[in-house]
Amino acid sequence: MSSEESEPVKTICPYCGVGCGIQVDQGEDPGDVQFRPWGEAPVNEGRICIKGGAATQVVNHEDRLTDPLIKEDGEFREATWEEAYGRVVDELERIREENGPDAMGFFGSSKTMNEENYLLQKLARRYGTNNVDNCTRMCHASTVYALRKSLGAGAMTNSMADLEEAADVFWIQGANPGEQHPIANSQYFRQAVLEGATVIQVDPHANKTTRSFQIDETDRHMHLQLEPGTDIPLLNIVLKTVLENDWVDEEFIKSRTEGFDHLLETLEDFDKEAAAEECGVPLEDIELAAEKYAKANNAAIFTGMGMSQHTCGVDNVQNEINLALATGNLGRPGTGVNPLRGQNNVQGTSDVGAMPNVLPGYQPVDDDEARESVEEVWGFEVPDEPGLTNVEISHEAGDSIKGLYIMGENPVMSEPDANRVAERLQDLEFTVVQDIFMTETAEYADVILPATTWAERGGTVTNTDRRVQRMRGVDKVHENTKHDLEIVSEVGRRLFGEDGGFDFEDPEDVFEELREVCPIYYGMTYDALGEEGLHWPCYEEGDEGDPFLYEDSFDTESGRGHIEGVRHQPPKETPDEEYPLILTTARLEEHYNTGTMSRRSPRLHNQHPENFVDIHPNDAERYGVEDGDYVRISSRRGEIEVKAQVTEDIKEGVIWTTPHFAAASGNVLTNDVLDERAKIPEYKAAAAEIEVS
Ligand code: SF4
Repeated sequence: MSSEESEPVKTICPYCGVGCGIQVDQGEDPGDVQFRPWGEAPVNEGRICIKGGAATQVVNHEDRLTDPLIKEDGEFREATWEEAYGRVVDELERIREENGPDAMGFFGSSKTMNEENYLLQKLARRYGTNNVDNCTRMCHASTVYALRKSLGAGAMTNSMADLEEAADVFWIQGANPGEQHPIANSQYFRQAVLEGATVIQVDPHANKTTRSFQIDETDRHMHLQLEPGTDIPLLNIVLKTVLENDWVDEEFIKSRTEGFDHLLETLEDFDKEAAAEECGVPLEDIELAAEKYAKANNAAIFTGMGMSQHTCGVDNVQNEINLALATGNLGRPGTGVNPLRGQNNVQGTSDVGAMPNVLPGYQPVDDDEARESVEEVWGFEVPDEPGLTNVEISHEAGDSIKGLYIMGENPVMSEPDANRVAERLQDLEFTVVQDIFMTETAEYADVILPATTWAERGGTVTNTDRRVQRMRGVDKVHENTKHDLEIVSEVGRRLFGEDGGFDFEDPEDVFEELREVCPIYYGMTYDALGEEGLHWPCYEEGDEGDPFLYEDSFDTESGRGHIEGVRHQPPKETPDEEYPLILTTARLEEHYNTGTMSRRSPRLHNQHPENFVDIHPNDAERYGVEDGDYVRISSRRGEIEVKAQVTEDIKEGVIWTTPHFAAASGNVLTNDVLDERAKIPEYKAAAAEIEVS
């Protein structure tokens, strides 16, 4: 059958959390896999950004892993699946026998689907450990923590469609949708702006979002260009201004919230002038932004990794929640606190329980009732103590952790202090990696299991606004690769026997079991998801799902939204004589996280073939840096060499780089100190030095 005659497969873009629908067409040769727009796709109606349009370029890339590999005497050799499975099962059994189950760590990934992550976390728990985590830890663990604690659900409160229709003000703090969520920005946000909505951007870096709405060139929109790590004082100025002017929603506070007095106490002696100085933003600008937000009919907060990736990440997001609750901007269309998620299944990976402290549906592992209800379906006991998070696992690698099972993750580039991670992986007794390419992490593996790509398999993913959508696959390009689900099922069958809970026919079969143990997904079936998908929570079959949350009450114990005043906590590293600059990091539109796929996509790679650093003209002059010079950036953890881009986009005293490039990843420099509660690392502020190479 020629490609003209074939029926394209409707699926979801594998990159960011917007969840755009695309079609994939396969020609007579299985390797001829092409992108086709999907005009009626529910989220994007056929529109596509550069990453989505280039997504099929990696499917038949020459670097694809095509056969299992086993390392012998430091070199990989091809192996049969029988040999590879045998080695994995033998090593997992040996490690458990010699050290106990908590000597293994399991990493799921938001690059893989709900069914695959569900099965991996079940494998970890059947093995006897809660040491299972996923990359959400790195991006929004603090956001999820704060939202769950104070509102009920660790997810966007609203959906993109209601935000576009009803929001008058978009308060975007620490997020850059113009770069990282291009279709949300160009379709939903732009439409709202065309109809009169105002954008208030809070970010140390002027970026594509700033330019896409000409924020710096209008009186209507505002860009508050703050110092990295001063989000709490900035929001406290906003809150105090709201209180001083009586712009609070008294009725909402009285009937639907708790803790307002704590906020009043926290702000009683708060000095707005001193705080504005600390933020590096004129006080009157912050007061004007406060007025715009508080006086809007409906104001929506969007929050990104500029907020979450701090040691005070939970408190950063709590302060956004404080603002929304104090002004009554929750529980109706066009409002809320909305984390923009970075990967196509970053919401779902946590929803299905690939986390050390919760089971599917965010049910705590140490809640006896919840755990027992899951155990009843699974037929085995689950450990009742939360396990280690992924950064804790890599800190422990070689000590209490002896082995790692990694599905689709690349911690050697994604975790902070990347050189330390690489060293630690060498101390492990056994590492197995399932992936599509020889990643920087796979180089350290003992066994590599070649997986199929996003375009070759089916399942479900959950995009940033809680919409669960189906992905569908074309035929395999390489015969000897396997779907992640097949691999985890087979490892489970070999470890625990045919009746051990890993005997599934296909992704739908797994999804049916997932529904049983995940109340927020219970009402969904593959048929009900159809082509439109459904927003969770969806408790009963026939439910249409909830595009926005908390219309009548919050999902907290009291049913009230929780307000809690917070105070400024500076980053753990601040500039000093040795490292006089603040380094911050962020991603580019054309690349995807650790670049495993996007660096192999010619269309994307050609846009940005190497890393660079943004530096302010005054700093450039001070350090003798000319635009285009190669410079060495160093921190207490390592150094990289990159090209300098001299620009007023960045504040004086701050430098900005990216984590995408193996030859010079920003994560060599970042600090692996964690937020105590959410265990997210402080990627967004580290002390650094720069010199011309
Ligand atoms: Fe893919 Fe995100 Fe671009 Fe949509 S906006 S095409 S989901 S990368």
